Amino acid sequence: MLIREAKFITSNSRADQCPPATLPEYAFIGRSNVGKSSLINMLTNQKGLAKTSSSPGKTQLINHFLINNEWYLVDLPGYGYAKVSKTARATWSKMISYYMRQRENLTCVFVLIDSRHPPLAPDIEFIEMLGKEGVPFVLVFTKADKQSGSRTQQNVVDYTRKLSETWDELPRHFITSAEDMTGRDEVLGFINEINKQ
Ligand code: GDP
Repeated sequence: MLIREAKFITSNSRADQCPPATLPEYAFIGRSNVGKSSLINMLTNQKGLAKTSSSPGKTQLINHFLINNEWYLVDLPGYGYAKVSKTARATWSKMISYYMRQRENLTCVFVLIDSRHPPLAPDIEFIEMLGKEGVPFVLVFTKADKQSGSRTQQNVVDYTRKLSETWDELPRHFITSAEDMTGRDEVLGFINEINKQ
């Protein structure tokens, strides 16, 4: 898919203040520092579109970007940052579950996972929540340039094994690097395919 235009629309703290749900919507989420902003900028080919985090865990807003006037890309606030207070964590949880339940045009959630790490509890818990809510999602293993391809593959296998403890059908996954643009065509191609349906 050719990205002709990517523009920032709004930042909200509530699902009911998001833009009208008239276009398909794809949301990106993951633990703080997973490489979400870098991935969004890589996909849209705009260096400063999503703000790369100088203070992780701080942005607690739902950010909408309009792509090619055809679909929304949504940058959701990350989770799992240790220094976030209990209150902020509860606010995040409420906001995200409300968004997941209410946003009727939400087509797919991209759950970002650092490809260097073994399965981590916050990610697994988040994935389980998506399952309970019946939200369609895929996995994105980020920062693949940081290690060998075989190491990444091994971590993906470990993940798959962990998820198969609770899931009959495993989610689709992508391997990406914002550094060398690995996975860009695959992720955008996937979105394009769904938009055409
Ligand atoms: P966010 O908090 O999830 O939005 O993460 P950022 O996009 O701000 O990235 C966190 C850190 O990881 C930054 O220092 C990025 O430069 C780095 N980073 C993000 N993606 C990649 C990647 O694909 N490869 C490498 N080598 N570093 C990355």
